[in-house]
Amino acid sequence: MAKRVESPSSINTFKQCQRKYYFQYIEKLPTKKNIHLVRGNIVHSVLEDFYDIDVSKFDEDDYQIKFRAAIQQLLVHQWKKYQSNLSEVNMSEDKLKFYFEESMMMCINWYNYFIQEFKKLLSTKQKTIQEIFHELTPIREEEYRSEQHSVRGFIDAIKLNKGEAHIIDYKTNARSEIKESIILQLSIYSLLYQEKHGKIPEQVGIFFLRDKLKMLPSNEEMIKNAKFEIEAIHSHTTLTEEKGDYKKNITPLCKWRTGQCDFYDICKPRG
Ligand code: SF4
Repeated sequence: MAKRVESPSSINTFKQCQRKYYFQYIEKLPTKKNIHLVRGNIVHSVLEDFYDIDVSKFDEDDYQIKFRAAIQQLLVHQWKKYQSNLSEVNMSEDKLKFYFEESMMMCINWYNYFIQEFKKLLSTKQKTIQEIFHELTPIREEEYRSEQHSVRGFIDAIKLNKGEAHIIDYKTNARSEIKESIILQLSIYSLLYQEKHGKIPEQVGIFFLRDKLKMLPSNEEMIKNAKFEIEAIHSHTTLTEEKGDYKKNITPLCKWRTGQCDFYDICKPRG
């Protein structure tokens, strides 16, 4: 069988439960929309669009208030744009209001970090508001694809500064923990970046939007591990597409207090 084009999330799904991978990526059964997924998309769109705002009339006296108003307006705009997706998650108005307010808190938290960086550059008195905004604007939502490894990924933000490349992924997770699956995601991004630009990015990290930015240096070990995990999935999926060859991994991630795996009913993990 031909190699499939994998992604950090398909590889992490395979590692979590092969049967889940089978349902999602081989049978391509539909997955359900949930509030965490939809809200994640909304907040990502806000942070992507933020750097497109027109700052030509911003000055030193009003830039903070204008940036703050802009990010608030962007969230309101995106929330409306995603209305049909939000209605599919079957949630009461009160619950949706809670998630909207929580999302606003995340955007403002990110804005506070942005303003700190902005102020630092402004304090040097060497650049205008517009020049600083341009300097802070990262490469956004860039697709990276490796033909050699048959893997691809969309990187939320790449900051290029003083010859260094910093790769950042935004997460709305409840816990700010750089767990194994996140390390693998960042390792795959490092591999993709290295293949395209001929060098490993200096740093990779996650902006936990409820909390803060956490960065770590990227290194050869991460690249080696990414290659190993990519090869492991290819060697399985090129050999077989039989359901029985994709083992169930029955864990608390099959069903928990407030939800269940998208394929729980068809999988019947407990018989
Ligand atoms: S219900 Fe559990 S065993 Fe079944 S596919 Fe989902 S995670 Fe895997």
